[in-house]
Amino acid sequence: MKIAVASGKGGTGKTTVAVCLALSSGQPVTFVDCDVEEPNSHIFLRPEIEGSRKFHLPVPGIDESRCNYCGKCRDICRFNAVTVFGKTIMTFPDMCHSCGGCFLVCEQDAVREERRNIGVIEWGKAGEIDFFQGKLRIGEAMSSPLIKEVKKQTLFEEKKGLTILDAPPGTSCPVIKTVRDTDFVILVTEPTPFGLHDLKLAASTISTLGIPTGVIINKSGVGDLGVKNWCKDQGLPLLMEIPFSREAASAYAKGVPIVEVEHGLKEKFNELIEEISR
Ligand code: SF4
Ligand code: SF4
Repeated sequence: MKIAVASGKGGTGKTTVAVCLALSSGQPVTFVDCDVEEPNSHIFLRPEIEGSRKFHLPVPGIDESRCNYCGKCRDICRFNAVTVFGKTIMTFPDMCHSCGGCFLVCEQDAVREERRNIGVIEWGKAGEIDFFQGKLRIGEAMSSPLIKEVKKQTLFEEKKGLTILDAPPGTSCPVIKTVRDTDFVILVTEPTPFGLHDLKLAASTISTLGIPTGVIINKSGVGDLGVKNWCKDQGLPLLMEIPFSREAASAYAKGVPIVEVEHGLKEKFNELIEEISR
């Protein structure tokens, strides 16, 4: 079973929940940190990294000795990553989405493949947990291909047992790339108007994919009832509430998973996994 943990905005406790699930399951777990712009689950899981590899995207390089400046590569590029004016051609690798269009349309065989590093994939062990994470190169904007590659490294499609994916925050392409092909999405939010606003966006995004979804309210007790009421109105299952506590906040600040300090929380997460499975 593959469970993705997502949220409409950062800072809601998404990683906290993902880590708690992995540490509470009592079965073989694969943990995949897909929040490649800011992977921080390693702070709590403290994995021993056993391997890594750089990941590159193919981008065009132009052989000007063959180019006749016809402009077909520019015309097909939806991302303005190639431009041709007069007898000048320029490429902008940072804007290239590696769709391959310019390679296909060039009749002069003038477009050559170059490689652009966008980040690194790491894997290892955190106790019994198989741990994977992607780290986007600083300054790099293209996170979706790296997320796809991290999932590929886990042999995602054939994966048996429980896989927990920590998704990036928000509602854009990297989130879709993470939750696609999962069995269930947990949306983590806070009981505040901001939390509700972003939960609505996230729930609407996930519903378009048709993946079963439930909500966990983190820091319950500090805000209002807006999130609870909205979930009830929408028929969205409220899976769990994690009460705000000073001990949990203090543990988080020290990089200690809250299941290690909050009595009974591990059992609750274990029951939740069973419930989702059913
Ligand atoms: S399509 Fe090929 S020949 Fe035409 S401008 Fe681009 S690189 Fe040059
Ligand atoms: S590979 Fe695609 S996105 Fe990249 S420059 Fe060529 S047409 Fe544009």
